[in-house]
Formats: sequence, C-alpha cells, structure tokens
Amino acid sequence: MARITFIGLGNMGAPMARNLATAGHTVVGFDVVEAARTRFAEEGGTVLDTMAAALEGAEVVLTMLPSGAEVKAVIAGPDGVLAHAEPGALLIDCSTIDVATAREVAAEAAARGFEMIDAPVSGGVAGAAAGTLTFMVGGPETAYAMAAPLLEVMGRTIVHAGDAGAGQAAKICNNMILGISMIAVSEAFNLADGLGLDRQKLFDVASTASGQCWSLTTYCPVPGPVPTSPANRDYKPGFTAKMMLKDLRLAADAANASGVNAPLGAEAGKVYEAFCNSGGDATDFSGVVRFLRGG
Ligand code: NAD
Repeated sequence: MARITFIGLGNMGAPMARNLATAGHTVVGFDVVEAARTRFAEEGGTVLDTMAAALEGAEVVLTMLPSGAEVKAVIAGPDGVLAHAEPGALLIDCSTIDVATAREVAAEAAARGFEMIDAPVSGGVAGAAAGTLTFMVGGPETAYAMAAPLLEVMGRTIVHAGDAGAGQAAKICNNMILGISMIAVSEAFNLADGLGLDRQKLFDVASTASGQCWSLTTYCPVPGPVPTSPANRDYKPGFTAKMMLKDLRLAADAANASGVNAPLGAEAGKVYEAFCNSGGDATDFSGVVRFLRGG
C-alpha cells in the first residue's frame, strides 16, 4: 500500500482520493481552498493545511487541478512538489491541460529525478465516484507500470497512449469529438421539434442508426429518452459548458500549433463560448441544446 498525497480536492479529485483511501492506501489531501479541505475532512479524509506538510513522506503525488497554470505552479513552482517531495516519488497528473505544459513539467520532473505521467480522465464526476474512469496515459513505461495499479483503483479503462503529453493529446482529441457531437445531436433534436417529429421517435431511430453516438445514447441533451442524462435535472452538471470550452480551446490551440485543419472543432468552440457568455458556463454542456433553441 502506498503513501499518497492528493492535491486538488475538487469535484473530481475528492472522490478519486476517497477511492484510493477505501482501497487501503494512506492518502493525505491538500487543496488551496479551505472549504475543499474541510469538505474532504468531513467526509472522512485526512488533510493538511500546507502543501509542504502534505508532501512529507509521499511515495506518490497525484494532482487534479483546473489547468496547466496550476499544474505548473504546484509541480514545478518554488514551493511545489519538486521542491518538497523526495526524488524517486511517482507523480501522476490527472488534470486536463495543454500538451506543451504537460511535456515541459514532465521534463523538469525527470531532470530532478522524479517519475511522472500525465493521466487525464474521461467519465466525469459519476465515473470518479464509481471508480470507473477512463485514463489516457502519457509517459515512460517504467512510470506507467508503477502507476497502473493505482489507476485501476480509480478507473476501469487504462490506455498507455505514448510518451509524455500523449495522454493529454488523446484527451483533447476525444473531447473535440464530444463537443462537436453534442452540438450535432442538439441541432438534430431542435430540427425534429421544428418539423413536429416526436423526440422519442428521433431517439429510437438515431440510437440504432448511423446517427448513434455517446452524446445521444448516454448523455441525450433532451429530457426523456435517457433518464440519467443531465437534461432530466435542468442541466445540472455533470460536465460544465465552461470545462467543455476549456477543452475545445486546448484542441484549437493544439490544431493551430501543429498546422492541422479542424474547422468544426473551432466552430464548436465558438458555440460554447457564446453559450458561456450568455450565462451558461456553470450549466452542463448538454444545455447547449437550449441555448441553440434560443433559451
Ligand atoms: P474543480 O474546480 O472542482 O477542482 C479543482 C480543485 O483544484 C479545486 O478544489 C481548487 O481549489 C484546487 N486548486 C486550484 N489551484 C490549486 C493549487 N494551486 N493548489 C492546490 N489546489 C488547487 O475541478 P474538477 O471538476 O475537479 O476538474 C479538475 C480537472 O479534471 C480539470 O482539469 C478538468 O478539466 C478535468 N476533468 C473534469 C471532469 C468533470 O466532469 N468535472 C471530467 C474530466 C476531466
């Protein structure tokens, strides 16, 4: 069993950390926000008030932070993980961040004697709680082999995608598909409304025909056909529109940087940006159906 420091006890991090503790590991949590620390402690977790204290004796350090800026500061900053953890510790960053920062931080960690992988996830808060996340991993084979048993506690599907940054690359490619497909499904339901076609009938056809996709069959953006989808709880997230916008921006930046033509990804980003600007940023991203309908 490992001594694990878990940094970033938010919507995803807290349940992931709990699953590791439940599996028998010694987990010490830290979050920069006191309310997050208190919540984690109230749910039975162990927290410490400073990152330096939380890192003492850590064999594994997991991070689940909002974006690349926080990951860089927490891992490589002057008071961060590389400064306080013992060289040889395994670093696992599960945040969704840009590929360039992931590679930069991994290189710095390696230069200081740390094993590191990027291991962003798919599966949302429900997957984090149930321990059924999908992990997309980038980094050396040695680090992957060390991390795999821990990832198996938190997830169901683990794919070693390649070298440092490859996990992030897989994640943004997947989420570009998701962002575009949710808009496609939403437009189709809105068109069905306009044509007087019953929503359930469209679902019955498209879910068994060539329009079939996750955005339709698991996360249907209109209430009714998939009772567990956020549409049935007034688009309470789930996965917020703001997060989707973040991922589409990462995808657009990566496409530009690598000279790849991805017009629909860029257009989807504009739609979620307008949705967020209209006040939808804390709404589930599938609420884009309502935004496209005009509210
Ligand atoms: P969140 O905002 O709920 O949690 C992030 C936590 O990090 C917060 O508690 C915040 O206080 C903490 N934090 C920020 N800066 C810090 C610092 N310097 N030191 C310590 N703690 C710090 O976000 P989340 O929903 O848990 O998402 C985390 C990551 O997972 C993001 O990169 C997101 O894109 C990705 N993700 C989220 C989902 C989802 O459904 N929510 C799904 C897949 C991936």
